[in-house]
Amino acid sequence: MKLVNPANKRKHTVIVVGSGLAGGAGAATLAELGYNVKCFCFQDSPRRAHSIAAQGGINAAKNYQNDGDSVYRLFYDTVKGGDFRARESNVYRLAQISVNIIDQCVAQGVPFAREYGGLLSNRSFGGAQVSRTFYARGQTGQQLLLGAYQALERQIDAGRVTMYPRTEMLDVVVVDGRARGIVTRNLVTGAIESHAADAVVLATGGYGNLYYLSTNAKGSNATAIWRAYKKGAAFGNPCFTQIHPTCIPVSGDYQSKLTLMSESLRNDGRVWVPKQKGDKRGPSQIPEGERDYYLERRYPSFGNLVPRDVASRNAKAVCDEGRGVGETGLAVYLDFADAIQRLGASTIRERYSNLFDMYERITGEDPYKVPMRIYPAIHYTMGGLWVDYNLMTTIPGLFAAGEANFSDHGANRLGASALMQGLSDGYFILPYTVGDYIATNKTEQLSVTHPAFRQAEACVQEMTKRLLSINGKRTVDSFHRELGKIMWDQCGMSRNAAGLEQAIEKIRELRQEYWQDVKVLGSGEELNQSLEKAGRVADFFELAELICLDARQRDESCGGHFREEYQTADGEAQRDDEHFSYAAAWEYQGQDAQPVLNKEPLEFEYVHPSQRSYK
Ligand SMILES: Cc1cc2nc3c(=O)[nH]c(=O)nc-3n(C[C@H](O)[C@H](O)[C@H](O)COP(=O)(O)OP(=O)(O)OC[C@H]3O[C@@H](n4cnc5c(N)ncnc54)[C@H](O)[C@@H]3O)c2cc1C
Repeated sequence: MKLVNPANKRKHTVIVVGSGLAGGAGAATLAELGYNVKCFCFQDSPRRAHSIAAQGGINAAKNYQNDGDSVYRLFYDTVKGGDFRARESNVYRLAQISVNIIDQCVAQGVPFAREYGGLLSNRSFGGAQVSRTFYARGQTGQQLLLGAYQALERQIDAGRVTMYPRTEMLDVVVVDGRARGIVTRNLVTGAIESHAADAVVLATGGYGNLYYLSTNAKGSNATAIWRAYKKGAAFGNPCFTQIHPTCIPVSGDYQSKLTLMSESLRNDGRVWVPKQKGDKRGPSQIPEGERDYYLERRYPSFGNLVPRDVASRNAKAVCDEGRGVGETGLAVYLDFADAIQRLGASTIRERYSNLFDMYERITGEDPYKVPMRIYPAIHYTMGGLWVDYNLMTTIPGLFAAGEANFSDHGANRLGASALMQGLSDGYFILPYTVGDYIATNKTEQLSVTHPAFRQAEACVQEMTKRLLSINGKRTVDSFHRELGKIMWDQCGMSRNAAGLEQAIEKIRELRQEYWQDVKVLGSGEELNQSLEKAGRVADFFELAELICLDARQRDESCGGHFREEYQTADGEAQRDDEHFSYAAAWEYQGQDAQPVLNKEPLEFEYVHPSQRSYK
């Protein structure tokens, strides 16, 4: 890695789009090093980034429990958990850095839970047999984000970071093959502006909201990475989406959001359904012998702590058999009765009270007295912009960090590993790799009057004008809901070739209708959330098609990508390492042209691919 002389760093500008955990940490650290940083977010404050919603915890191989953890074990669990579809080198680095993250955050004052002796406490998450998850009650993301936010504010105060809240990036500007800036829209005034830089980082989060109903914040979207894709950045593994097993079930057609019940609850909660199909008795009326603790039965080693893809598929299977609970039959129980009896309600309250309160507020049921009802929902996207080991996309000078990139998690992310990856990218990787890029690529000063900026601004303005002029009959949300349903039904928890082909057709038809019949209210020169959504949904349509295309070409099951045609005799995902041991990197070829699929072969030197077993 080359270094930039400290005295020269202030001569270089780095744009960081996103101020969640990945972007906030990256912007603060790059500024601390001396770079001139411009940081953008669409919320009114970096404190409102979606990262704030993270509940359960963050992994690190500290081995405080002395239960056999190590950097190697975290590396191994992550590669296996991702069903051998992640790059080994990235995952190993992540496991190494995990220990530094905890030190950094403790030094910032993040109030991690502690044991009675004062040491940091840990709990277990899925896919691991050690306790390595650090947490701050059920608000880990919020506390970590406050740490990153304070570091960022310090740099804003020092004049090293210029913060642009309520500003949406709508295009990347590429000059001579390198990323040299962005075009933004001021979400309050509607002003379209350009910003030039030596390097651009996208830390803009995941695209789970494409499915309409998801656990993501309503504002999370794919626009930044999608527009970068259309400018030449390859898109990695778009079909690797994660379904989280423990969410509050859907309760009606007009619901716009789903609520996660943290995976940490599976430390103490036991998952079960009645043994009998169609058993409509209340949970307390079903005797112990007539209950099926199906995860404990099928996976005695990991029990309720199997990884998310496995837990989700099993929940779907028992509901499909007619053994689901609740009014819709699309739910299973997560029961704390045993844990309350064993540990006492006060211990359970200490561990999870905010989650229990949230559940009660939403459902009107008290989980201290009756089991929670849960069902899988879209939660996270392992896919994202393809990046190399340095987190650089295929556009030189354009980096992607956090959930926006595709690295590290393969086909299934283990719980508590997203916060680890976002902070690893932001605090520890980008500060080296962006510097190396700047040191090895001498960039000329560039003015935003350069024709490339003017051209990108014109494209953005043209799209805004087009959306506002359609003046059709349907709302943006109604299209988005319909798109989400197609995706959930045909490219959700399980997929098959015929369904995916059908989905592609339906998405194309619906997209055409969108551009003829959507109604976007208001104008472009004001705060206009209808317009913001319209642009994001337009991008979701295009990305949805790529997701289905990717899912269609991957004729195997792995992690969260479960192709019904490829399963073992007992219904587990069946990989095809001979033909599909690669990361897919899709390359844009123009509107409505078939994108090109590039394949990055995955090599496993240390963890040899095997049939994943949690039995
Ligand atoms: C309910 C919930 C609970 C979770 N719990 C956990 C957990 O316990 N442990 C764990 O490891 N993971 C958890 N996750 C996952 C984890 O929270 C996320 O993956 C992670 O926080 C993403 O961080 P990020 O910095 O990449 O993106 P975000 O936090 O999503 O930040 C994105 C940033 O980009 C900005 N942005 C986006 N687009 C644009 C644009 N076009 N222009 C300008 N700015 C833009 C936004 O304003 C924001 O600042 C959870 C996720 C959910 C949904």
